[in-house]
Parts: sequence; structure tokens; C-alpha cells
Amino acid sequence: MTHDMYQDLERILYDRQTLEKRVAELGRAISADFSAHPPLMVCVLKGAVVFFSDLLKTITVPVEIDFMAASSYGGQTVSSGTLEITKDLSRSVKGEHLLLVEDIIDTGRTLLRLRDLLLSRGAAQVRIATLLDKPSRRVVDLKPDYCGFTIPDAFVVGYGLDYAEKYRNLPEVGILSPSAIRD
Ligand code: 5GP
Repeated sequence: MTHDMYQDLERILYDRQTLEKRVAELGRAISADFSAHPPLMVCVLKGAVVFFSDLLKTITVPVEIDFMAASSYGGQTVSSGTLEITKDLSRSVKGEHLLLVEDIIDTGRTLLRLRDLLLSRGAAQVRIATLLDKPSRRVVDLKPDYCGFTIPDAFVVGYGLDYAEKYRNLPEVGILSPSAIRD
């Protein structure tokens, strides 16, 4: 039996061309802003991996890259919840200018905790680039420095974003149909 991923989408939000154009705009802004201090770009796994690799190719300053994975549990405030680092950076970030690259910011808890952790390790600055932002869902005070698209509160997949680890390989961003969601 064949399974076409597109059958599971309600609609496509951003097609390949739209994504490519917007990612290039972000790359130009980042290259200009970091011209004095090329950043260590940190990909927040797994969801950001596609955005990260496309963004990387549009940046014209000599960046370095690293990878990190984290999950955030519970708590209404950043201090009351727990951040579990499931994959850590391969070196010290002391004095580094970091650019955290994320797929989507929802409540904002994970990224705020991650930013605080990296600042506590001595990073000179931690800026945030996200492909997508859902500001209506935010429970903490966090604004990305670079954002591809602001979206309404819908569950999206593709271009790295998953549902139950699937759909990451879709080259577009789409809204998942309710019928494709199994409780
Ligand atoms: P938060 O900002 O709530 O701490 O968590 C953000 C994470 O939640 C994202 O990195 C992503 O893994 C997941 N997430 C939030 N909204 C969506 C969505 O619409 N689609 C997918 N696939 N993941 C989402």
C-alpha cells in the first residue's frame, strides 16, 4: 500500500519557493548583524535540522555549527520546570556569540530555558532564529530575534517538523488534517 504524505495535509501553508525566499532574507539579516562576531550556530534538534541547513547556506560570514537537543517539562515559570538536555554541545560556549536555531516557538518554555542555560555557561550573547512563531500560545516572555513566519495556533508539519516522528521530510510546511491525528 502506498502512503502519500500530502493526503494527510489539510493545506500547504508555505511552499518551497516561499520558504527559500524567506530563509534567504533571514540569512542576509543575520550576515549583516553578525559581521563583527560570526556566530556559533546551534541547531536545536530534531525539528530545526532542515531550516538550519538551508539557512546556513545563505549566511555569508564564517560561522561555526553545533547541535543540541532538549525537552522541557512542566512548570508555569521557567524556574519551576525542568530542562532535560538529551544531546549537549561538543564544546564550551564561554565568550561565544550564539545563534540558536529552532523550528517553531510555541509556549516558549524550552527555548527560554535553553537560552538561560547557555548564558549561565558564559556565552557572550544568545540570539534566537526560528522558522515559525505562534505568539498566541506564549506563556513566557520570549521574542525571537529572527522569525520566518508568524502563524496562527494550528499544528503544522514538514520542513523538519514532525507528528509522531513523521512528515519531517516534506519539503513544504503544511497544516496536518485532524483525520491524520491519532490520539
Ligand atoms: P515550546 O515553545 O512550547 O517549549 O516548545 C516548542 C516545541 O514544541 C517545538 O520545538 C516543537 O517540537 C513543538 N511544537 C510546537 N508547536 C508545534 C507544531 O505546530 N507542530 C510541530 N510539529 N511541533 C510543534
